Amino acid sequence: MKLVLDNFTLVIFGASGDLAKKKLLPALYELVKIHDIKDNFRIIGFGRSVYNHETFRNYLGETFAQAKSGVACTDPQFKGFCEKIFYVQGDYEEASAYQRLKEEITLKAQNKQVCSNVLFYLATPPQVSALIIKNLNKTPGLNGKTGQCWNKVIVEKPFGTDLKSARALNHLLAQGFLEKQIYRIDHYLAKETVQNIFAFRFANTFFEQIWNSQCIDNVQIMIAEDFGIFERGRYYEKAGLIRDIIQNHGLQLLATIAMDAPKSDREDAIRDQKLKIFKAIHRMKEKELRNSVVLGQYEGYTQEKNVASDSQVETYAAIKFLINNQRWSNVPFYICAGKNLKKNLTEIVLNFRKPKYEYFKEKNCNFEANQLVIQIQPEEKINLKFGAKRPGEKMIIEPVKMAFDYKTSFTQKGLSAYHRLLEDAILGDQTRYVRKDCVEELWKIVDNIKTGLKNEKPIPYKPKTWGPKVLDF
Ligand code: NDP
Repeated sequence: MKLVLDNFTLVIFGASGDLAKKKLLPALYELVKIHDIKDNFRIIGFGRSVYNHETFRNYLGETFAQAKSGVACTDPQFKGFCEKIFYVQGDYEEASAYQRLKEEITLKAQNKQVCSNVLFYLATPPQVSALIIKNLNKTPGLNGKTGQCWNKVIVEKPFGTDLKSARALNHLLAQGFLEKQIYRIDHYLAKETVQNIFAFRFANTFFEQIWNSQCIDNVQIMIAEDFGIFERGRYYEKAGLIRDIIQNHGLQLLATIAMDAPKSDREDAIRDQKLKIFKAIHRMKEKELRNSVVLGQYEGYTQEKNVASDSQVETYAAIKFLINNQRWSNVPFYICAGKNLKKNLTEIVLNFRKPKYEYFKEKNCNFEANQLVIQIQPEEKINLKFGAKRPGEKMIIEPVKMAFDYKTSFTQKGLSAYHRLLEDAILGDQTRYVRKDCVEELWKIVDNIKTGLKNEKPIPYKPKTWGPKVLDF
């Protein structure tokens, strides 16, 4: 069944930036194409960079032409899309710029006799978020108090830098918008393979019965990137890997694996279960933290642009988490993530326990235990490793795998995470967005680690390796 989307105006703050150009605009182009929306949308870029409607369209056209999406400025369909893009130039703190933005939204909407539903997207660095929200709050027509139309606001990750700043941002948002109008992004939640974990666990009977400490020995979550910090030194020096990756993607993946079945697939049912996991994560004291966390920094990090020459910021972390509940008692969940590692890989491995009785003698068995491997990227697949008898006279056990791969099982292409998230926000579905209490609980976990390890120095590691060392995986 085809979804019906309301008319909308998407306002992108920081529209000249990397996220807008690489992810948001290509996702919007796809969304408009798939839903065949011709006139019922507008995109307004906002930022300090000097553009007018025309030059901004030209800039985007060049970007699209360079992108792999195969869309060129000359493509007639792109031309139609391009004509719906507008630009308002202004400073983020300048009240009059928000007035100009309001005029751009409302005037055009009135001319076209369409309702000006507005989706504000904060695609700006985190230090600018509060400034934008304050100005939206105090500009009638741009805050959440609207009549028949809706206004919603999407805030990019990272949402704050610690519990205190996240609370302050939540407080600020609540002054202008209701929680149902606030969309905190973690784009991992919208990835096809992450969505598929719900299907795999709750649409099937075979695994859910053994999804617990009785059968699972440990869980490993790997989020590896094979590139450094590029030009993001200023941001990274304040954030570091734990805040940048583990606070959001890492712990969200952990919760998706660890949570109990929600009552339904509706937003609060899922987010309630996740919150229970975040609350149940064991808070380690200093000594325990030192035995459960490895921090690393890639060689050459301190020579990156805008990085201090004596920086102790971590670009790698491996952390052992325990969950205080019946299902996961004493099962370690290891999250390992890093920059400039050997390859780009996001993967969850569930290591099952060995059979209690060793029926096969060691010399006959080259297989250790079952393993379920959920790969999120670069490939979208699930492998189940098990032991099988090698053909021949003797009973010799070898590891083999059963494999599911999206590419071979389905012909249709999945939606990009940003496409899905934009669609969700327009439709008003917050399932794949992070709720206020969840984001605050996540910061409590991370603040506890950061405070406990504040004097810990990261271990240097060579780029394009697997980091300094992993915990005893
Ligand atoms: P950029 O550094 O490219 O910044 C985006 C735009 O914000 C800039 O072009 C600039 O536009 C404006 N801006 C306002 N204040 C500042 C400032 N103090 N320093 C730099 N730029 C400023 O960021 P990204 O587009 O990469 O990311 C935006 C947000 O999205 C961040 O919160 C990031 O963490 C998040 N994100 C980004 C991803 C990506 O792939 N890039 C992926 C996931 C999340 P102007 O000068 O015109 O005002």
